[in-house]
Amino acid sequence: MVNPPYDAIVVGARCAGSPTAMLLARKGWRVLTIDRATFPSDTLSTHVVHPRGAAALARWGLLDRLKATGCPPIDTYAFDFGPFTISGTPGTPEAPVSYCPRRTVLDKLLVDAAAEAGAQIREGFTVDEVLTEDGRVVGIKGHAKGGERIAERARTMFTAGVVTEARTALAGEISSTAVHALGLRDVAELPQDAALEAVIIRTRRYAAYQRKWMRRIPGLVSVNGDRPTGEVADDIVQVASTRERLPAPRAG
Ligand SMILES: Cc1cc2nc3c(=O)[nH]c(=O)nc-3n(C[C@H](O)[C@H](O)[C@H](O)COP(=O)(O)OP(=O)(O)OC[C@H]3O[C@@H](n4cnc5c(N)ncnc54)[C@H](O)[C@@H]3O)c2cc1C
Repeated sequence: MVNPPYDAIVVGARCAGSPTAMLLARKGWRVLTIDRATFPSDTLSTHVVHPRGAAALARWGLLDRLKATGCPPIDTYAFDFGPFTISGTPGTPEAPVSYCPRRTVLDKLLVDAAAEAGAQIREGFTVDEVLTEDGRVVGIKGHAKGGERIAERARTMFTAGVVTEARTALAGEISSTAVHALGLRDVAELPQDAALEAVIIRTRRYAAYQRKWMRRIPGLVSVNGDRPTGEVADDIVQVASTRERLPAPRAG
């Protein structure tokens, strides 16, 4: 996927990525921020935003939001090494205190601030490679959650001769709706890589559309299928045996 409409693509939307995206967007840049995580999201870390970090949050107009989450200020540190303890006040007059928010709180706040500044946020999306032209990075290639399975199936379809099938179908009598909905022209006419990409995008959109309208059907039981087959099968058995509705996954 190449994204010419963006001035910058920031990969990683936590404490480095989101403020970068926010600051660029505030300058009027068109920014895409990508993270394979979906927020709020935890990560391996202790949580101290040291005084200079807190001062940066204040400069960006975000410290009051952090305080509003109930996170108290800290002015004294004590590092206890067992035989001895080092303690002191690391703040300065300009940046007197630190805060210790959970990453679920801090990172979400930063992601939201980037979005408010106008950065487009794409969560649940993994960047697989950067695309270069003449030694310059011009975009990224990646996949959304669950996209691997679609890509794998699409590849199998190509190996099994879907291009010939699409060309045969196009040569016969087929409605324009079917041609469009099935993406037959993409499959028959585009180079294979581009055709594969088009099929993946089309399938993902179609699945999202189906999820949306199917969830309106009263009594319909939905099971999140974007998981290992065994887990999905367990859920189906559970639904069948209890006849209870499981919590529906969010359409995406
Ligand atoms: C145990 C531990 C304790 C720490 N304690 C502190 C502390 O108390 N105070 C402090 O200031 N620092 C602490 N640090 C350091 C701090 O956690 C890191 O410096 C900080 O998280 C780095 O932020 P980041 O946004 O650069 O990266 P990260 O927080 O690592 O975020 C990177 C993001 O990029 C995403 N990403 C990566 N690759 C891709 C890809 N290909 N496609 C899509 N998304 C991708 C990931 O999903 C992730 O969300 C600690 C670190 C550890 C490990």
